[in-house]
Amino acid sequence: MTNAADVGVLVVGGGVLGLGHAIAALRAGHRVMLCERDSVARGASVRNFGMIWPIGQPRGPLQQQALRSRQLWSELGELAGFRCEATGSLHVAYADDEWQVLEQFADDAVLPGLELLSAGEAIRRQPRLCESGLRGGLFSPHEANVDPGAAVAALHRFAEREGLERRLGTAVVAIESGVATLASGTRVTAEHIVVCTGDDFRGLFPELFAASGLVRCKLQMLALGPQPDGFRLGPMCAAGLTLLHYPGFAACPGLAALRARLAVERAAEIARGIHVLVSQRDDGCLIVGDSHEYGDGFGPVLDAATERLILDYLRTFLAVPNAEVVERWSGSYALQRGGEPIFRAGPAPGVEVVTGVGGSGMTRSLAIGEETVGRWRTS
Ligand SMILES: Cc1cc2nc3c(=O)[nH]c(=O)nc-3n(C[C@H](O)[C@H](O)[C@H](O)COP(=O)(O)OP(=O)(O)OC[C@H]3O[C@@H](n4cnc5c(N)ncnc54)[C@H](O)[C@@H]3O)c2cc1C
Repeated sequence: MTNAADVGVLVVGGGVLGLGHAIAALRAGHRVMLCERDSVARGASVRNFGMIWPIGQPRGPLQQQALRSRQLWSELGELAGFRCEATGSLHVAYADDEWQVLEQFADDAVLPGLELLSAGEAIRRQPRLCESGLRGGLFSPHEANVDPGAAVAALHRFAEREGLERRLGTAVVAIESGVATLASGTRVTAEHIVVCTGDDFRGLFPELFAASGLVRCKLQMLALGPQPDGFRLGPMCAAGLTLLHYPGFAACPGLAALRARLAVERAAEIARGIHVLVSQRDDGCLIVGDSHEYGDGFGPVLDAATERLILDYLRTFLAVPNAEVVERWSGSYALQRGGEPIFRAGPAPGVEVVTGVGGSGMTRSLAIGEETVGRWRTS
């Protein structure tokens, strides 16, 4: 006689990817436990911009995944009681080559409903844009803004109400087929174990990760505020440097020329992986970032020169009402060196490692959870 497992699904890690799996498994009718080693999630999922950003994904399955996730974010915002605001996004151009990339992206109809805006129209959409030299902008209705800390906390509470057995302050220290050992020594049996431990990809399966091609990336961020008079940002903003960053723009023929110009004119920013995005938190503060430092050599320091470059670039396109820096932090995520959008591995029967979602994990994770759980039904 075989013993019944303690739970159907054990999720390790309480960031957005772990939550995406837990919620999808609950919805599919599984009995689910989630173990998070900290007392609350403190990883990348609560340190990001809260940008649900389909426009950054290349056309095809990744864009579809991002759009499905976007739908889930809206739905869960209603159910779990957090703000998921359909702000859309606004990319602005201050040079002909930036404008050309935006035109090419819009002409290609990479997403439905894109609007190419003249300078005047862009300013009407975002009155805080700097007027001087503005060529125009691209508005996309698909992006949504959440406050990452509030949204992740609300998703935890929602999942618990839906039946999740949540174990906070509970590190998983070993996993084999069907059994996870907690730091207390307790063993939990499960039909499916899903490991979503973010950039801590060495702890549980060191050999697997040594061969995985996963690498860490540190980002530097800040918050500006408080903003006066209930100021609302509206569409989340990005400018020329961002066009180099996201794969969504990679197919635009004008990108090579833009990259060549910015490599010279913005060498300091590019050396630090800086491109500047702006979103807003529930308390009204603006979230501004970021920089990218790859590898394992980075330490805890927040670099003042990086911060200056971020703020200087911000001032080239947006005059925020209150530009006082009130918070600074860094975050890190795991990504694949080869550019693959996710790392999946099955180190033992019934055990799946899912991580390496990189800089678009907030955007894509809810749909990724659904995909993993959907595969169980068909396998
Ligand atoms: C600064 C920054 C800005 C970003 N901005 C955006 C954005 O605006 N939009 C977007 O789409 N993406 C963004 N990203 C990317 C996105 O935040 C990440 O891809 C995503 O949060 C990764 O989620 P995760 O659940 O895999 O990892 P995490 O959020 O890091 O969660 C992993 C969790 O696992 C827990 N854990 C680890 N080991 C164990 C163990 N042994 N036992 C139990 N628990 C364990 C950790 O404590 C942690 O809570 C950003 C990332 C950063 C760092």
